[in-house]
Amino acid sequence: MIPRTIFEPEHELFRDSVRKFLEKEAVPFHAEWEKAGQIDRELWRKAGEQGFLCPTVAEEYGGVGVDFRYNAIVDEEVARLGLTGIGFGLHSDIVAPYIEHYGSEEQKHKYLPQMISGDMVTAIAMTEPAAGSDLQGVKTSAVLDGDEYIINGSKTFITNGQQADLVIVVCKTDPAAGAKGTSLLLVEADTPGFSKGSNLEKIGMKAQDTSELFFQDVRVPKANLLGKEGMGFAYLMQELPQERLSVGLNAVANAEAALEWTTTYVKERRAFGKPVAELQNTRFKLAEVATEISVSRTFVDRCLELHIQGKLDVPTAAQVKYWCTDMQCKVMDECLQLHGGYGYMLEYPIARAWADARVQRIYAGTNEIMKEIISRSML
Ligand SMILES: Cc1cc2nc3c(=O)[nH]c(=O)nc-3n(C[C@H](O)[C@H](O)[C@H](O)COP(=O)(O)OP(=O)(O)OC[C@H]3O[C@@H](n4cnc5c(N)ncnc54)[C@H](O)[C@@H]3O)c2cc1C
Repeated sequence: MIPRTIFEPEHELFRDSVRKFLEKEAVPFHAEWEKAGQIDRELWRKAGEQGFLCPTVAEEYGGVGVDFRYNAIVDEEVARLGLTGIGFGLHSDIVAPYIEHYGSEEQKHKYLPQMISGDMVTAIAMTEPAAGSDLQGVKTSAVLDGDEYIINGSKTFITNGQQADLVIVVCKTDPAAGAKGTSLLLVEADTPGFSKGSNLEKIGMKAQDTSELFFQDVRVPKANLLGKEGMGFAYLMQELPQERLSVGLNAVANAEAALEWTTTYVKERRAFGKPVAELQNTRFKLAEVATEISVSRTFVDRCLELHIQGKLDVPTAAQVKYWCTDMQCKVMDECLQLHGGYGYMLEYPIARAWADARVQRIYAGTNEIMKEIISRSML
């Protein structure tokens, strides 16, 4: 195996504390949370106390101002343990940067400390029932009326949707202006007219509260505009590479875990008088899976390094998202096959991971959209 060179000893100490925390506070309860359709809200506060939320946020807003490697560690440990209900990545890697990069001083001081402590859970609502890949087709409107915007519309598939206290809502402030008419508005969950719809039933990620959100004449102060009016689309394009890198990191860590579970399983399981591990097909499959993971690991770590240096470009981020999630789904399938019928039983982590992995090729921009982005940069 190629050693990982991107992390320093202090990162490994942090990783150790994240892993111990998750093993104690999340692993024993995740199956219960899957039944409940969401994680325990208290986990957010416990993680906040430990400094695991939004570690990159600057000290003046209550953060520790470290680089993205710390977020990567939290993402990887959550993925390695198959804790797919935990939406820390969305909160720390995706929402916090929008507020830190485009928010006013007032917004940053108001929201970031609560996000870091876990007192406030966040979400970002781009997708609508009739607009997912085609974000320019967003219909949710925000009309200025004096000092307030009035928001109308609906969103769907929103991660952390039930638990969110604050949502970044992608709206049209000027529907005639296309992408340039898109703006981002901050909506607090107790704002009149804002309601949470059903916690959607999914084939995997059962403990994740992916939800519908509704906006009916929701009035928010003009001061809730994030950044400048009409710049929403540009901000999304700017921030999406980090989201896609997070998905790639998660995919590789989860595939590594699946390989570990499978290696253990095939050594124990016997067929035709010997361990399944001694069958040539098993050995070759494991060799193939290990090699595919190594290739992806090397690529994603290089992308992480580039990102820390501020050099991860949009097409490369699209490549890492597409490549690593395709690899993850392929690995899950091969590993499930090597478990035989037990691989189909939800009691086994591989069965849940197989179902959980499927969405990775869909959200954060589908892998087809990733290929569009990559090819656009080539032609
Ligand atoms: C579990 C889960 C969590 C999610 N979390 C969030 C969240 O927190 N916030 C949020 O805003 N959204 C979230 N999403 C939504 C997700 O980002 C969208 O589902 C995704 O972008 C695809 O949009 P769509 O579902 O409308 O599919 P569509 O856009 O309708 O796509 C249907 C098919 O057409 C293909 N397609 C579309 N356009 C093209 C094209 N130009 N070229 C080639 N093929 C194309 C797609 O790849 C896909 O295969 C989540 C989704 C899920 C399932």
